Amino acid sequence: MCLRVGTLKNKMRIGILGGGQLAMMMIQMSEKHNIEFIVVDPSDNPPASKYAKYIKSDYDNKESLDYLIDTCDVVTIDFENVPSEALKYLENSISVYPGSQAVKICQDRLKEKNIFNKNSIPTTEYHVVNNAKDLSAAIDILGTDSILKSRKLGYDGKNQIIINKHSAEEAWLLSGKVDAILEKKIDFQTEVSIIGVCTKSSGTLFYPLVENFHKNGILNLSIAPYENSNLQKLAESYHNKIAKELNYIGVLVIEFFLDKSGVLIANEMAPRVHNSGHWTNEGANISQFEAHIMAISDIEIKNISINGNSAMMNIISKMPENIIDTNGSYKLYDYGKSERLNRKLGHITVTDNDKKDLIKNVNRISKSFF
Ligand code: ATP
Ligand code: MG
Repeated sequence: MCLRVGTLKNKMRIGILGGGQLAMMMIQMSEKHNIEFIVVDPSDNPPASKYAKYIKSDYDNKESLDYLIDTCDVVTIDFENVPSEALKYLENSISVYPGSQAVKICQDRLKEKNIFNKNSIPTTEYHVVNNAKDLSAAIDILGTDSILKSRKLGYDGKNQIIINKHSAEEAWLLSGKVDAILEKKIDFQTEVSIIGVCTKSSGTLFYPLVENFHKNGILNLSIAPYENSNLQKLAESYHNKIAKELNYIGVLVIEFFLDKSGVLIANEMAPRVHNSGHWTNEGANISQFEAHIMAISDIEIKNISINGNSAMMNIISKMPENIIDTNGSYKLYDYGKSERLNRKLGHITVTDNDKKDLIKNVNRISKSFF
């Protein structure tokens, strides 16, 4: 029998596949639980590598996976595109949350749409596209006000082509000819997301809905709470259906469009902590990062509550200069990444009991720094 090091030392050890800012904040925000973390990431010096043991390796490297099996009690992810086979391999020996099946579904837009539809959760109108002929037929049905999205590897609006004036042939070429869906563009009033923490023994705990504003397909600003008790209940009920079907443990996030007639339409989901939940570090009694770690470690979360209103502004492409907080009116996170067009480099959180003052502060900060 192989006794795991975690068991021997009586200290919980968690392996994280992916060492980006999400892993970094999972580690930072869970400090008080005295957990050891090991991150695996193929890139050089990812943000989390400063705060934990770091193994530079591909996610499916057997030696690294075996090391996690031997040393960790549980493995999680900070990135949904880890090969689900790697998670499956780990699952044969140790606990993996979220599980390989859940992650596999969230890696594929079509599988996501299928699970939403199966659970009677509205989605955008869409058609499966596997070649230029499919695309042409789909454009005939949905019109040119539609978006071609690759089924896999999409994030921050990448691998999406707005059809508009492109012919089917052109759009198919631009897409790199990968399996995709054509989705009807929604004229939404706003976008919201629901962040739920699925625990082993006390069901799912929810944060209030967050309102999200994107620029060029990338999240720019989140404001919480988005107060609407009917929508909150509906979003939670959708989340519960999905979490049940996926046997989910940990943080699961569903992004929605709210259309002009008030219908909540599921866009996509993330099997991990989410950018629209970064405000919870300052704006809630337990952050999404700590809550995820507690849920997967089976540490009881008594309740989740918020402190007033919060806003989170992403810092994208370039770190602003002279960003010194002189009066403590915001909290700045610098992920320590090199600057690159459309790369998320950090974020700023602002909290305020008064929503109007919060918005004023957000406007002031965006004017000074962006
Ligand atoms: P993420 O960074 O959230 O993973 P992603 O690349 O997976 O992004 P989506 O969430 O599908 O992509 O799209 C990014 C944004 O683009 C949406 O939040 C929304 O603002 C806009 N968008 C996407 N699909 C549609 C649509 N069908 N109708 C209108 N706007 C859309
Ligand atoms: Mg999205």
